[in-house]
Amino acid sequence: MNKQTVKDIEVKGKKVLVRVDFNVPLGDKGAILDDSRIWAVLPTIKYLIAGGAKVILCSHLGRPKGKIVAELRLAPVGQRLSELLRHPVTCVGDCIGAEVEKEVTRLKEGEVLLLENLRFHPEEESNDAEFARSLAWLADVFVNDAFGAAHRAHASTVGVAEYLPAVAGFLLEKELEALGQALNGPAHPFAIIIGGAKVSDKIGLLQNILDRVDFLLIGGGMCCTFLKAKGYEVGRSPVAEEDLALAQQVMEKAAAKGINLLLPSDVVVAGEFAADALFKTVLITEIPSDCYIMDIGLESVEHFGAVLLSCETIIWNGPMGVFEFPAFQTGTKALAKLLASLDATTVIGGGSTAEAVTALGLAEKMTHVSTGGGAALRFLEGRALPGVAALRDKEN
Ligand code: ADP
Ligand code: MG
Repeated sequence: MNKQTVKDIEVKGKKVLVRVDFNVPLGDKGAILDDSRIWAVLPTIKYLIAGGAKVILCSHLGRPKGKIVAELRLAPVGQRLSELLRHPVTCVGDCIGAEVEKEVTRLKEGEVLLLENLRFHPEEESNDAEFARSLAWLADVFVNDAFGAAHRAHASTVGVAEYLPAVAGFLLEKELEALGQALNGPAHPFAIIIGGAKVSDKIGLLQNILDRVDFLLIGGGMCCTFLKAKGYEVGRSPVAEEDLALAQQVMEKAAAKGINLLLPSDVVVAGEFAADALFKTVLITEIPSDCYIMDIGLESVEHFGAVLLSCETIIWNGPMGVFEFPAFQTGTKALAKLLASLDATTVIGGGSTAEAVTALGLAEKMTHVSTGGGAALRFLEGRALPGVAALRDKEN
């Protein structure tokens, strides 16, 4: 990675503002459903504590849209962080202003302060210069460890870097190296599995990887478009006209480059698009005209598996079915188990995909599970991440 990290700067006695991604999924009563994102930034925080920094953490949580939303306060996250760190964490009721400045002044070396949800201020997302300056005012240096927010040009990811020396944390570094290695220097054969809802959501990714992969495996809602483009009946599954043209282009480009493009051979269909719909598995030649395609079938998983077994590098983005409905998680789960059993380098990029792998307890079995959904997708599309671009380059 060509960006400086916390190891390249002096942290002892310094007030270090660390942007983290504590945007954890919350349950009905505000319970933290998955604390992977908190675990993921512990190495950076521990390093700073051990190095005698005064640690000032900031994050967003949910979508409060510029207003104070009591359920989206960061105090419960601070408590969980404190348990995981086995170290006190002080929470404060805002992220800028006099009260926060007072708390920062009180901070001693090795102490940790967690600022309130950045998105309670509309200026965070609009990357307001004054707001960014107020945040920067709190600290001597800035560390970005929020990979999940690196694709957003917000005050706490890009704005503050105008006013403070800005470097990467260990999670950001690890994400960029794992995704970068898989995308840019992979051992071959190299396969990418793409799922998700629509072709248009993933067209940037499809176009970027067509120059790189040996195998392209397609599932999820977008396989309907490819199947239809090949002349199969896809029932009531929505297929946009412009997506058909895109799928056609992808297939032509893949053929021209000698890339093996695999579609499912069987799918799970349902009479309605609903969690409790009756469903059955059919071959793609037998899709009824009055049904929705909800998942890939297990024969498809087997076919995919036979190909993946020969691969050295595999990237997976996007679930194979309508993952929100338990009945249609089967294809995604089976594929996750399959990937977990392989020796290949396996990289999971995508919010729902990571969720699926984590829920199955298989995250440890993958080479890398990205903590950033949108950021991972943008990276895999070959586009710059503004939060990364804003950091200091390594000196040669
Ligand atoms: P990720 O978050 O891993 O990047 P996406 O957001 O691209 O994944 O895709 C997830 C969405 O794709 C889910 O909302 C899921 O319901 C949808 N999806 C998957 N398969 C289908 C399908 N057959 N029909 C409709 N939607 C689907
Ligand atoms: Mg998603």
